[in-house]
Amino acid sequence: MRVELKSQPLYNQNGKARALDLHLANGIVQTPVFMPVGTQGCIKGLDSYDLQTHLDSKLILANTYHIYLRCGAERKESCAGQIGAIQKLKTLGGMRKFANFNGNYLSDSGGFQAFSLGKNAKLYDYGVEFKSHIDGSKHIFTPQKVLDIQYALNSDICMVLDDLIGLPAPIERLKQSIHTTIRWARESLKYHLAQKMENPTNHIFAIIQGGTDTSLRKICAIELAQMQEFDGYAIGGLAVGESAKEMYETIESTTEFMPPHKPRYLMGVGTPENILEAIALGVDMFDCVMPSRNARNATIFTSQGKLNIKTSSFGLDTRPLDEECDCYVCKNYSRAYLHHLYRSREITYHRLATIHNLYFYLNLTRKARQAIIDGNFLAYKAQTLSKMANPKNV
Ligand SMILES: [Zn+2]
Repeated sequence: MRVELKSQPLYNQNGKARALDLHLANGIVQTPVFMPVGTQGCIKGLDSYDLQTHLDSKLILANTYHIYLRCGAERKESCAGQIGAIQKLKTLGGMRKFANFNGNYLSDSGGFQAFSLGKNAKLYDYGVEFKSHIDGSKHIFTPQKVLDIQYALNSDICMVLDDLIGLPAPIERLKQSIHTTIRWARESLKYHLAQKMENPTNHIFAIIQGGTDTSLRKICAIELAQMQEFDGYAIGGLAVGESAKEMYETIESTTEFMPPHKPRYLMGVGTPENILEAIALGVDMFDCVMPSRNARNATIFTSQGKLNIKTSSFGLDTRPLDEECDCYVCKNYSRAYLHHLYRSREITYHRLATIHNLYFYLNLTRKARQAIIDGNFLAYKAQTLSKMANPKNV
């Protein structure tokens, strides 16, 4: 992956905030960037036309665990007339061709889903054994196996398998987590480099763990940074029970030890405020289900903070969802119409609310990029957060 730095100088009036261009096989991704979450390879309620036309999204996230299980998993390979998920995804030409999306995919490794399965997942030296949440069938994810699935997805960015834990956690468990994560990262990189000729456009990111213990984060970041062939580095294991203050302190103490010339991805975070604060600390890439999931549950993100579109006062409100937003929904529909669709349980509500909320997040990071390039990111962050916290005339 070729990475171009667009903010000069890097550490000056913009603090640590960065603007990069990531040259991927399916187009340039400009950072800071928010990646919509497509659990099954699509954003719930949207199709590739919405992503390309209404959101202009160049990079979306797909969940390896969910697609693997829904596409048949491997246990069916032995059944007559059935093929496994890996072969099926290869036959279909990978996720991008399957979904007819003209941008890039990043796929996670399934580590977070294994963590979410609780007692239905068991950690071993060689990987994670788990029971499917769909039918209870048993499966194993190893560092090599999750890469094979991601190669079959033909992901532009593949994530390594890591050992994610909830917080707070005992120090011994945290130490075990970073040792397992580092060992699996080494195995993943070795396997990836051996496959590189076959999969030249699939890039690989390592994941830094360590909870909110800054000394363990430092050890993990330094060890992984020494494996120089990784194309980028992620901060995993945050937004799992710690306070916002602990999260920011952890990010700050981790980015310090991450290679400055490689992209940095904060996994699964978060609110608009979390994202702007993390950009200020030197993070480039984000994903979160919050904008799409909250849209479906009636929460609308706006420049003046959040709206609950269920509220009866919106029944006669002819204003757009956000008067400062120029998305397809705000240009064409009123709050009253969205309120009506929500109350009527219309599927159309989900699509329109999701388009607006994702546009809001994408626009937040696009404006952040412009502010970084213009040299006034910290002022942009302060103004944006102040407006959200002190809404006027909502
Ligand atoms: Zn809008």
